Amino acid sequence: MKILVINCGSSSLKYQLIDMENESVLAKGLCERIGIEGSKLTHKPTGKENYAIETPMGDHKVAVQLVLDALMDKEHGVIESTEEITAIGHRVLHAGTVYSDATLINEDVKKVIRDCFDLGPLHNPANLIGIEACEAAMPGKPNVAVFDTAFGMKIPEKAAMYAIPYEYYEKYSIRRYGFHGTSHMFVSGETLKKIGKDAAKVIVCHLGNGASISASIGGKCVDTSMGLTPLEGLIMGTRSGDLDPAVLQFICNHENIDVNEMLNILNKKSGVLGMSGVSSDFRDVREAADAGNERAIMALDAYRYRVAKYIGSYTAAMNGVDAITFTAGVGENDTQMREEICEYLGYLGVKIDSEKNAQARGKEEEISTPDSKVKVYVIPTNEELAIARETKALV
Ligand code: ADP
Repeated sequence: MKILVINCGSSSLKYQLIDMENESVLAKGLCERIGIEGSKLTHKPTGKENYAIETPMGDHKVAVQLVLDALMDKEHGVIESTEEITAIGHRVLHAGTVYSDATLINEDVKKVIRDCFDLGPLHNPANLIGIEACEAAMPGKPNVAVFDTAFGMKIPEKAAMYAIPYEYYEKYSIRRYGFHGTSHMFVSGETLKKIGKDAAKVIVCHLGNGASISASIGGKCVDTSMGLTPLEGLIMGTRSGDLDPAVLQFICNHENIDVNEMLNILNKKSGVLGMSGVSSDFRDVREAADAGNERAIMALDAYRYRVAKYIGSYTAAMNGVDAITFTAGVGENDTQMREEICEYLGYLGVKIDSEKNAQARGKEEEISTPDSKVKVYVIPTNEELAIARETKALV
């Protein structure tokens, strides 16, 4: 069984074709700058030469057709015809309170995705366009939506509800949803396999450009750091994470800007970028910090402090922790950041093997010492495989 996984952004489309017999990637790639000048497809077939073409892509429909052409190309292709694709799995950001599990897409599901444009203004419209483009290009094939909120939505009410008048939940479904759910589900699941204890208490730190942290018991999420939108929680590349809402009012009044502009600042100009003034990329910020840039030092200090605080609070929420796992760009590669976060966790009996930690870059590794009271792992996330598994289960 071959499953095509599609992840549509507003101007991009990432794809992977996965052979579910052995969960191997047959080909993967990316369409960039869809709908704007300079559109480009980069196609990476396993065992064959990569190729890239620059050709106009007016919309996602054109992009999907180009992806299918690339997958069937005589020279760079990996399949003869789309008949070989059993189903398509789509990453979809938000389904409000309606769906928390992966769902076979029909008109009702598309309506819910459309109804939730407000909750995911950047992603949901693009996700729907990607779905409709696949329906048009491959009529009759099953399409499955895997929601980014699925894992986090299962948190108990006490963790989900904001302490605001209840009518806003009733009227608008305002609550905490959590994001990066596919990643947290995959990485916590892989962590559980490693510790071999069904009801293990696991904290997953997904530290990428976007960053979030989850607590789960036996694979069921009990808390997660992102909220109604991905803005809540950890300090991120460009997002502020948690802050006093009065900050918004104060800056809006003093800078004469409206709340939409302020949210844009909190989403795109804050985080380590805003604090350091250097970059949202951790490698650049680290380089600046190493060269003595005080704001870069402050940004990294605040970043790891926030992660450590969340680990502490989630340990309290679960009354213990068996394993802490790092994943995503920073979590998988920034050895120094992992070590510095773990320095806060001595009180939990966390001990890191510095040599193992230094070697664990982008690969699976246990980085705690044998006598550490809590296991610490690095596990690369694989959202595409998780989406393909969910899709397979449904078709
Ligand atoms: P996204 O949220 O965009 O999927 P990723 O998970 O790819 O993000 O993470 C991207 C971030 O990972 C970049 O901002 C970069 O700072 C960080 N990163 C990648 N490689 C390294 C590395 N070797 N050392 C430190 N940070 C890294």
